[in-house]
Amino acid sequence: MRRLDFAFLPKVELHLHLDCSLSYQAVSRLRPGLSQEQYRRDFVAPARCDSLAHYLEAPRRMVALLQTPAALTLAVEDVLAQLARDGVIYAELRFAPLLHLEEGMTPEAAVGTVAEAMQRAALRTGVEARLLLCTLRHFSAGQSLATLRLAQQFRGPVAGLDIAGDEAGFALDPHVEAFVEAARLGLPATAHAGEAAGAASLRETWRRLRPQRIGHGVRCEEDAALVEEMRAAQLHLEMCPTSNVQTRACPDFAVHPLPRLLASGLSVGINTDCRAISDTELNREYELLRRQFGWSGQEFLACNLHAIEASFAETQVKQTVAERLREAWTPASL
Ligand SMILES: [Zn+2]
Repeated sequence: MRRLDFAFLPKVELHLHLDCSLSYQAVSRLRPGLSQEQYRRDFVAPARCDSLAHYLEAPRRMVALLQTPAALTLAVEDVLAQLARDGVIYAELRFAPLLHLEEGMTPEAAVGTVAEAMQRAALRTGVEARLLLCTLRHFSAGQSLATLRLAQQFRGPVAGLDIAGDEAGFALDPHVEAFVEAARLGLPATAHAGEAAGAASLRETWRRLRPQRIGHGVRCEEDAALVEEMRAAQLHLEMCPTSNVQTRACPDFAVHPLPRLLASGLSVGINTDCRAISDTELNREYELLRRQFGWSGQEFLACNLHAIEASFAETQVKQTVAERLREAWTPASL
């Protein structure tokens, strides 16, 4: 089977960083004269990095390019076009608005620009999309609360809150208040955890921030009781296989926990994380899973149904997307 075959099958993607996913074509419009080699050197991380902190160097360079409304608009259009090529019919894009203020843009302008561009590109591509706003592990309590206020101000196009960044290097304490407040306001949340740090960090993040989903959670298997609690609570894991190997959260694709967790009844989904940094697309992740684990339409349908159920979309959108998934993905569709 050719990789292209996946492109025609509808998919859901919940874990995708807008500011880590620009194609060569988009970056070369922001840095005219950039060669393919320079793009690969500066914006694509090695297949295996020393650590998550190492992996996060390339995103810093990409964020530096996205400091104007025009650049952010270009990024949204580029990523939505990539999603359409991947057959994605519902997506949640995420970014940290407070990282885009270096050239004088206000936080409100950053979120407003991305939200508007996303809604226009959604109409053009047919990809239903929502935004998640990220705070970062190294941010202060004030920055996390400011990110929450932005999410609340732009509620609608913004569907939730996230915390990303260096899990192993920074504590959760400054961010607890923002997530408790988000829960009080009824704003859904997800949180990166169990990636650079182990199951104990995942457990702490879940207990203190009370997110509906976990970004990655790839190291949850270190604690069998935790896995069972997650299964019972139907806590969704946004898994990103290529990225997990690249950051060494998982030693090798062949031992990625995704198939085991799916088989044991956990809610899991398939995502790209950082399309540029990881040099991947969603069709490629599907192809790798099919080749490595012999997955058929049944497993892919289950992951997509888990993802849309755990999404922060309105009930009607969830139902419509689930119907389209069930119609398209059958054991015979591959
Ligand atoms: Zn991520």
